[in-house]
Amino acid sequence: MAVIITNIKSSVDEEAESIVKKALKKISVREDEVKKSGIYKSSLDARKQSDIHFVHSVYAELENTSTEKKLCEKISFCQYIDSEVKSPVICRDEYKGRVAVIGFGPAGLFCALVLSENGYKPIVFERGEPVDDRARSVDGFWNGGSLNINSNVQFGEGGAGTFSDGKLTTRIKDPFCRYVLNSFVEFGAPEEILTKAKPHIGTDKLRSVIKNMREKIIENGGEIHFNTTVTDFETKNGKICRLKTSEGSFDAAAVVLAVGNSARDTFEMLFSKNIMMQPKPFSVGVRIEHLQEDVNESLYGTFKNNPFLPPGEYQLSYRDREGNGVYTFCMCPGGMVVPSASEENTVVTNGMSEFARDGKNANSAVAVSVSEKDFGSSPLDGMYFARELERKAFELAGKNYKAPATTVGGFMDNRPSLDSCITPTFARGLSECSFNSLFSKRINSMLSAGLNDFGRKMKCFKKRDAVMTAPETRTSAPLRILRNENLVSPSLSNLYPCGEGAGYAGGITSAAVDGIKTAYRIMECYSPE
Ligand SMILES: Cc1cc2nc3c(=O)[nH]c(=O)nc-3n(C[C@H](O)[C@H](O)[C@H](O)COP(=O)(O)OP(=O)(O)OC[C@H]3O[C@@H](n4cnc5c(N)ncnc54)[C@H](O)[C@@H]3O)c2cc1C
Repeated sequence: MAVIITNIKSSVDEEAESIVKKALKKISVREDEVKKSGIYKSSLDARKQSDIHFVHSVYAELENTSTEKKLCEKISFCQYIDSEVKSPVICRDEYKGRVAVIGFGPAGLFCALVLSENGYKPIVFERGEPVDDRARSVDGFWNGGSLNINSNVQFGEGGAGTFSDGKLTTRIKDPFCRYVLNSFVEFGAPEEILTKAKPHIGTDKLRSVIKNMREKIIENGGEIHFNTTVTDFETKNGKICRLKTSEGSFDAAAVVLAVGNSARDTFEMLFSKNIMMQPKPFSVGVRIEHLQEDVNESLYGTFKNNPFLPPGEYQLSYRDREGNGVYTFCMCPGGMVVPSASEENTVVTNGMSEFARDGKNANSAVAVSVSEKDFGSSPLDGMYFARELERKAFELAGKNYKAPATTVGGFMDNRPSLDSCITPTFARGLSECSFNSLFSKRINSMLSAGLNDFGRKMKCFKKRDAVMTAPETRTSAPLRILRNENLVSPSLSNLYPCGEGAGYAGGITSAAVDGIKTAYRIMECYSPE
């Protein structure tokens, strides 16, 4: 047990030791009463440029636990840490067979890891390549080569977030979030992710962390089949009994479906087999690129070159009177806009940064919410709507994987232009295009309303030469695969829809947490070998 002392303000260059001392003084605890202490979380408050500072919470494990209790009862800014993770309940019935995990993104990876750490020997099927081979396939495509439809920015070891900024922020509050961060650190991520309010790993470091996690699963007795797509399954008595894959058939006692939001062929296969699913709202839009120095100036003003401040990050949103929303999403400070297609003859954008976040440009998605009224009410309609946008973008930009793009000024004036002092980072190149023949009138007018609103909130959004690259379509799953309170599909009693693709997560951390929760449910019902 430990207490956390919240709301400790510091200057941007104050040392951790002095911050901890300040916190202990605030609760009138002497240093010799403390077993262990340190920074728990730090966040930057840059709301007023004249008063940019950090706000921390500090943890303190005291010699006397009853003092901890009294402090928490008496002092409003003093709380217990609730990061304790319960041990799983392990079923001890007769062994029924192996647990199969489809997909090795954060959801499948954490599910397999937790199972393997508790005596299970999961068998994982991943359509893409191991991360080093995958990086070569991705580089090849970015440098003008052909797209590998099974191993790309969306598919392969580590899942969709491997070529990302590795942001680990999440809106969910769950003790497993801390467990996920601790696991990443255990497997090689920088320790600072434990204390930053907005932690990120960066694509460069994330790749080796993922490899270390894979090695651990194998060491624990798990099996990972790369380059293996699950294409079908056989059922018996309302359960899956055998998975069919591109590399042969495998028996399975329970099946975790952690396929991510881009597994369109898998969704079609599941739909054709009457697995219960429904359409889900998601968002589409563009990536916007600014100079990082302009973002820093907008946020930090005269502090813009202060070496103690991180590259500026923002998150903006706007809702019109009818309730239509537009928001920035997945901001990548010092990052690149990356070609992210997983199907031939389509264009998809997304963003990625290295740990140092030291590139010249910053990018984020500017995305408009879309729902059944935009795409229809059948479960696969959202997916077809996104695919149609990606195909149109390919056609519009010259059928060579360049992306349609324009400056903000060109977009606002309806006169597309790429005349800008910003050098765009999209590796396959851009083609000057109007978005009128790409997006609907409603989406274009929401993008325009959003940009106007964001310009009132942040100076860099007023810049007419910021570059907009389209289309961003893989923001979250366009459908939800139903599951009950035991996380099981109502259609098949040993199928566990899990993670972002099934509609239960949005981002690396929440997908990982969903994978762990799924592993816990499985362990209650299926015994290890
Ligand atoms: C470029 C990019 C940047 C991103 N940046 C961030 C970020 O900074 N922070 C953040 O929180 N989120 C980010 N995201 C989103 C994040 O990556 C996802 O939310 C997360 O990866 C979802 O995890 P998942 O395990 O549910 O699915 P996924 O990561 O999509 O993994 C699913 C896996 O299943 C495999 N698969 C699919 N179908 C089959 C099949 N039939 N058989 C076998 N294998 C199959 C796929 O190959 C894939 O590897 C980013 C996404 C992208 C594309």
